[in-house]
Amino acid sequence: MDDVHIVWHRRDLRVHDNKALFEATKDHTKSILPVFIIDPFFFSEDRLDSDDRILFMFECLEDLKQSYRNLGIHMHIYFGDSVEIISKLQKKYRAKVHYNFDSSMLYGYSRDNKVKLNKNFIGYQNDALVRDGPSRIAWAKQAQDYFDDNIYTLNKTKTYKGIVQEKQIRLGKVAQKYNLKKKQTYPLRGGESIALTHLDEFISKHISLYSRSISKPELSKLNCSRLSAHYSLGALSPKYAYQRVMASKHSKRTKDFYVTRLFWREHFTQKLEDYPHAQQKAINPICNVEREKNQKYTDAFFKAQTGFPIIDAALRCLIDTGWLNFRSRAMLASFYSLILRQHWKDGADFMHRHLVDGDIAINYQQWQMQSALVGVHPLRIYNPRKMIEEHDSQGIFIKKHLEVFRNVKEVEYLCEPQKYAYQLKSQYGIILGEDYPKPIVNFEKEAKETRALVKEKLDEIRASLNDPNFLKKASFSKLRKFRKNERKEKAKRKLEEKNKDTSQKSLGDFL
Ligand SMILES: Cc1cc2nc3c(=O)[nH]c(=O)nc-3n(C[C@H](O)[C@H](O)[C@H](O)COP(=O)(O)OP(=O)(O)OC[C@H]3O[C@@H](n4cnc5c(N)ncnc54)[C@H](O)[C@@H]3O)c2cc1C
Repeated sequence: MDDVHIVWHRRDLRVHDNKALFEATKDHTKSILPVFIIDPFFFSEDRLDSDDRILFMFECLEDLKQSYRNLGIHMHIYFGDSVEIISKLQKKYRAKVHYNFDSSMLYGYSRDNKVKLNKNFIGYQNDALVRDGPSRIAWAKQAQDYFDDNIYTLNKTKTYKGIVQEKQIRLGKVAQKYNLKKKQTYPLRGGESIALTHLDEFISKHISLYSRSISKPELSKLNCSRLSAHYSLGALSPKYAYQRVMASKHSKRTKDFYVTRLFWREHFTQKLEDYPHAQQKAINPICNVEREKNQKYTDAFFKAQTGFPIIDAALRCLIDTGWLNFRSRAMLASFYSLILRQHWKDGADFMHRHLVDGDIAINYQQWQMQSALVGVHPLRIYNPRKMIEEHDSQGIFIKKHLEVFRNVKEVEYLCEPQKYAYQLKSQYGIILGEDYPKPIVNFEKEAKETRALVKEKLDEIRASLNDPNFLKKASFSKLRKFRKNERKEKAKRKLEEKNKDTSQKSLGDFL
């Protein structure tokens, strides 16, 4: 008997473009039981997800429940060990369990390995990843095929059969049990229906201003899509968003600017799939410029008290809202690892704990890139003064996030508070060292030292780029080039050998 089809939701909190759900509902005479299991593992002591991120996920679940209700199906949420619960349900209903393959997380791997051999569990590929594949050389094509593939759409005119279960958990109860509290003012609620509406609004009103705004910490809040948290929990399908953007009437350049980032998203996920240790270990330790742990530095950073207004404003924005634009994230990572020269992973953990869109694959590998721990990118040190001049030239972002500077009109005071200590005190009553910290380091001196340290290691870094095993972890494109060169060299050698052969033969003919 396989009259019941269970849809086991994980990081795919949506009904639209969901392959597992699509396959499970193909035969709509069978009953559908959509399930999500909240594993106590989510709440372990060393968890990286903030209360706000978990509550955002709960919002996605409420929204998903409602979408199912609209289809006449009850979705069920359980609490406990995922594999134990899903296996019990499978046995109870002698059901087929449909699920989309997950990615990147060690927890996910071990969970899925336990059900992999059970023929009643059917996993589907619903993303651009190559799993257990021999080579990543053709990755770009695989990703493009994914983005161009059909969207899995449910037939809403059909009547679906659901199952009503007795024992379920209420999300409010879980929130209460773990004392989860909203602390941040994240701009969007979680949920597929919200993401879909927001995506349309972004395409119609903001995408044309997107490329001009993305690096500006304040303007990016308005004109970036801000859908990262939805993508990271699968409440919005990147493929659906890609096709929606590509079908719009905007210029190719405008559309490409956005959809390239959706490729990057898949690309980082693929890289972590290939090298899961990137969350813990430096990809190319040769480039490390870290010094001894300095408690004063790390405390100042984590408390947004570094004495550099643009750095502290970015940190406050991260802590208070759970979101930050790309450039500010990059600036923070680079400041922590290349100026304070503290251990990159502590910084990455800190950022992850405050991001509502926290994504292991992107966050940890971006931290490595910005900390010069990959070795294939140029050294990126962001000068805080230049960041203000170029991206917050009226100090709007700083003043929004640092109360102390709210009334300061002169942007140069925000660029170099120490230089204008007298004016800050006499004009605004702000005493450096009391109302706002003095800079914890001399930026120029530290930047110079880091550059010199990296320069010393340049030969070693270059040599590491000739190792295909390393390139697999660091850069698909460089690996592709390396392989191409390798093939060229081989062909050249073969040709030389052949020419040598024929020349010898002809020489022999003479002798
Ligand atoms: C140090 C550092 C840490 C980061 N950590 C995360 C993270 O944990 N989670 C996360 O989603 N993004 C992360 N990013 C990438 C980027 O900053 C965010 O995706 C983006 O700011 C989210 O805002 P948005 O949704 O408005 O993005 P948009 O600019 O509207 O972009 C659309 C989508 O493309 C994807 N995307 C955008 N930029 C990148 C990128 N550089 N690499 C990969 N995918 C990208 C995201 O899914 C994003 O939602 C990080 C960047 C840096 C430098």
